[in-house]
Amino acid sequence: MSETEQPPAARAEGVRKVYGTGSAQVVALDDVTLEVPRGRFTAVMGPSGSGKSTLMHCLAGLDTVDGGAVYVGDVALGGLSDTALTRLRRDRIGFVFQSFNLLPTLTALENITLPLRVAGRRPDPEWLSTIIDTVGLRDRLDHRPAQLSGGQQQRVACARALVGRPDVVFADEPTGNLDSRSGAEVLRFLRDAARDGQAIVMVTHDPLAAAWTDDVVFLSDGRIVDRLAEPTADAVLERMKSFDRQGADLEPVAAR
Ligand code: ADP
Ligand code: MG
Repeated sequence: MSETEQPPAARAEGVRKVYGTGSAQVVALDDVTLEVPRGRFTAVMGPSGSGKSTLMHCLAGLDTVDGGAVYVGDVALGGLSDTALTRLRRDRIGFVFQSFNLLPTLTALENITLPLRVAGRRPDPEWLSTIIDTVGLRDRLDHRPAQLSGGQQQRVACARALVGRPDVVFADEPTGNLDSRSGAEVLRFLRDAARDGQAIVMVTHDPLAAAWTDDVVFLSDGRIVDRLAEPTADAVLERMKSFDRQGADLEPVAAR
């Protein structure tokens, strides 16, 4: 099969996700269809509660869907046993969480290589070294998470997500806790990984962060309401403002 015939790294087809029951029911995702292409860096944006994290969790097989289907490559996640799903997540998906989710008793280097070691794989030394330098952790490898700043911990988490060269990496606000300089280092790293052929999906609130990506998908109330290719920070900001205007009829204009 040639490169061009490969399926997208991941895709959601008419995905619906509902939390709770009865009057407490929340439709978190409503008929969401999205392709995550290889070699592209995709941003997911939208107001708080619009379903961004839910979409990432469903695409990564960390949560089940109530309608529609999620595929990683050509594998439908809904048809997999728990064991097969765990294995697929381990081998083909990287995830960077909003909270760093590092193991406190392990060093930075041990945290980075843990998923590979669990999978019985050995890190490619050259790629591991590249990752360590790009996220700027060379002199922190022996430190435990508590000895690292929030920014350094998130960079460990990014390195951990990418070290196994997964098909797709999902990052939920990976730069949310970083200063702008280390944020830019992480964004450059994610963008370069995408240029290397990896699919990367990132949730962000920040138009400047979104400007590093190739495509922006805007969510509102669990639905995809807009898309923007080759985004600039200004273009993203304009779109966000227009959504604010649509959604804020009762807000006095003078407040903005
Ligand atoms: P975002 O990441 O865009 O802020 P989320 O995906 O976290 O949004 O949430 C989407 C909607 O689903 C929100 O209304 C949220 O309150 C609800 N939600 C998310 N997770 C749960 C859960 N585990 N139980 C109940 N409701 C949830
Ligand atoms: Mg979220």
